[in-house]
Amino acid sequence: MGSAENKSIGASNSALQPDIQTARLDAQAYVDIFDDLNPPLTRHEALVEADRCYFCYDAPCMIACPTSIDIPLFIRQIAAGNAKGAAKTILAENILGGMCARVCPTETLCEQVCVRETAEGKPVKIGHLQRYATDELMEEGQHPFKRAAPTGKHIAVVGAGPAGISAAHRLAMYGHEVTVFENRAKGGGLNEYGIAAYKTVDNFAQRELEFVTQIGGIHFEYNKSLGRDISIEALKTGFDAIFLGMGLPGVNALNLPGEEASNVIDAVDYIAKLRQAEDLSTLPVGRDVVVIGGGMTAIDIAIQIKKLGAENVTIAYRRGQENMNASEYEQELAQVNGVIIRHWLQPKELKRNADGTVNAIELEYTTSENGRLSGTGETITLKADQIFKAIGQVFEPEPLKNSGISMSKGRISVNEQRHTSVDGIWAGGDCVAGGEDLTVSSVEDGKVAAESIHHVLMQIPQAISGFAEEVLSAQGWMNNGQRIVPGPEPIEWPREH
Ligand SMILES: Cc1cc2nc3c(=O)[nH]c(=O)nc-3n(C[C@H](O)[C@H](O)[C@H](O)COP(=O)(O)OP(=O)(O)OC[C@H]3O[C@@H](n4cnc5c(N)ncnc54)[C@H](O)[C@@H]3O)c2cc1C
Ligand code: SF4
Repeated sequence: MGSAENKSIGASNSALQPDIQTARLDAQAYVDIFDDLNPPLTRHEALVEADRCYFCYDAPCMIACPTSIDIPLFIRQIAAGNAKGAAKTILAENILGGMCARVCPTETLCEQVCVRETAEGKPVKIGHLQRYATDELMEEGQHPFKRAAPTGKHIAVVGAGPAGISAAHRLAMYGHEVTVFENRAKGGGLNEYGIAAYKTVDNFAQRELEFVTQIGGIHFEYNKSLGRDISIEALKTGFDAIFLGMGLPGVNALNLPGEEASNVIDAVDYIAKLRQAEDLSTLPVGRDVVVIGGGMTAIDIAIQIKKLGAENVTIAYRRGQENMNASEYEQELAQVNGVIIRHWLQPKELKRNADGTVNAIELEYTTSENGRLSGTGETITLKADQIFKAIGQVFEPEPLKNSGISMSKGRISVNEQRHTSVDGIWAGGDCVAGGEDLTVSSVEDGKVAAESIHHVLMQIPQAISGFAEEVLSAQGWMNNGQRIVPGPEPIEWPREH
């Protein structure tokens, strides 16, 4: 790019009080503002969709699932009219299968590799089918698994997010007692405080938590924070093992003067308030909103603030469209909802009023050479009544001070069994290094850690569970340790089409 140039869109450097208001919409508009993004399938739709599955052997969808759910098998069970059996197959590997059916980016996981996608560009709707099955079982209200006899072991779990809940459930199922210490007043982690409102409606996070904890043996200590109310030393003394599932409580900063202004907001904080708001019309909403970031959080805050009545919402991302962490599907969703996504722009300066509030943001165009990003000198200024920072979250290591736990790239280092460098302490979910920062991968971490804890505490030599196999054998889908491959013969069920 040649000489530095400054374009100005809808902004001047003179004082301009931010236009931030509550109740931007008519009262009636709030009623269905965050309706279910993907309404559930009817029974007929589920059967038709299940019928599209080829029940592949060595199914690529199953390999792509971070929790290794036996997808062809559960789809086969739905096709056979056995939705509850299908749910059991799902929950045996992923106890938060109901939430994952709603929030998994299936377009980059199981559905991306489905042979129907490869052949026709139209995958089997695995996520929808998973929801159909798990919803049916949850509606019945009965927990599908039984607890083993008490072992006398007691495990501390720190954090009641997907990783902590998954670990707690599996440990309780093996007969251990579990105490979960949670910083907040409610459990669920980002399922309750972070996921976009239109992905999880009707208080699903709390309903699922209740369903999962029906297993028994899980006790919650809310408003208890590691580092403030409890220490690693105390947990080591009082418990047989510790699992850390603390997520990423901190957020990255823009590192620009003026960032402390009340209208420069952490997207995750705002979403937490939105998710807990009893009256959405009380939330402050700017007229012109700029979101900085390129991941799921950026997309989620942009869509939600637009739905709450913001007039112009722009996402500014410092690299190209293909580099965005948000999937193509998520990007399209934002655009369909009227959000503008602009690429190759990085924040340069916050334009401030005398009272410290921000009225605009200057962004610099960027370019990348051999992966190295640099500013071109050319800038653009966007009017901004609110600026949302969605540039990633960070782990806060303070509660682990003096614990001896090794860290890598600012997160907890773990081995394949999710064991940390300190005896008796495991960790999983977003707080560990090398993960994918997804709900489903956090559930997997919790499960793998719980299996390892169980084997270590009970001195069982092999490190692989066998629980899913037990569930399948009980349903007649396993024989001598081998999965019975669904055969080509037609299955009878009361078809409605
Ligand atoms: C806005 C947003 C939207 C997202 N959308 C999706 C999505 O659509 N699909 C998807 O797959 N993933 C999504 N994710 C990612 C997903 O939510 C996380 O990967 C997942 O929740 C991580 O689970 P976790 O258990 O590791 O951590 P968390 O869910 O963060 O839970 C950690 C828990 O630990 C508690 N805690 C923290 N510190 C302490 C302490 N010192 N003492 C006691 N308790 C503590 C916290 O209060 C919290 O309850 C999203 C993330 C964000 C931020
Ligand atoms: S890849 Fe697609 S067609 Fe094959 S088993 Fe999985 S969902 Fe069915």
